[in-house]
Amino acid sequence: MDQNDIDAKKDALIWSAKRCFDLRLQTNAGGNLSVKLSSAEAIVIKPSGVGFNECTRDNLQIVHLDGTIEPSPFKPSKDLDFHLDLYRIRPDIQAIVHCHSPWATGYASAGIEIPCLTVQTIEKIGRMPLIPLSPNGGPQTEAEISPVFRDPKVVAAVLANHGTIGVGPTLIKAQYLAEIIEETAHIAFVRDALLAAHGKTSADLPTYGTAAEAKARVSQ
Ligand SMILES: [Zn+2]
Repeated sequence: MDQNDIDAKKDALIWSAKRCFDLRLQTNAGGNLSVKLSSAEAIVIKPSGVGFNECTRDNLQIVHLDGTIEPSPFKPSKDLDFHLDLYRIRPDIQAIVHCHSPWATGYASAGIEIPCLTVQTIEKIGRMPLIPLSPNGGPQTEAEISPVFRDPKVVAAVLANHGTIGVGPTLIKAQYLAEIIEETAHIAFVRDALLAAHGKTSADLPTYGTAAEAKARVSQ
């Protein structure tokens, strides 16, 4: 492991965590985020009990993809196993941002998949699958999460009664996805409230696709 790599990845994670806190995507010590090292088959991850706004180089953990945790006085996160599994099954995933952002988690708690309403979400995300709770009623584990992400097109998902997951080739891209998921849930809520207030349904709205699809249609 290269110390410069470790420091750079820790600093990137601290930036992402602070941004989530500042944008109110994650308060308290819930949620988790991680990033893969370039110099080893290992990740930097936030331990249990540390808030997004309290991450420092000294409290982040390094965990190898085989599950070995580098010596740390902190308790590993209960989300550690699903983070490790996503890195194992999808080499394109180099960073994960999991938070309990309120608009998206509201949809997740109502059992409603967040619709990709905007041109941006259709192009960048396509679909945000809603992953049900574990069969025992507990929070989702890799048993529920990994099968959904085995589809290489899936970059964002929502966990029922729990929160959101954005993945990417860099922490910045995973962070932006976490923000887009939340923004989309907020937009969907406003749309649905306005439709209901005006006695309309989504069937009254025009259908639309991506810019590429529109271009293809024009050139036909
Ligand atoms: Zn969580």
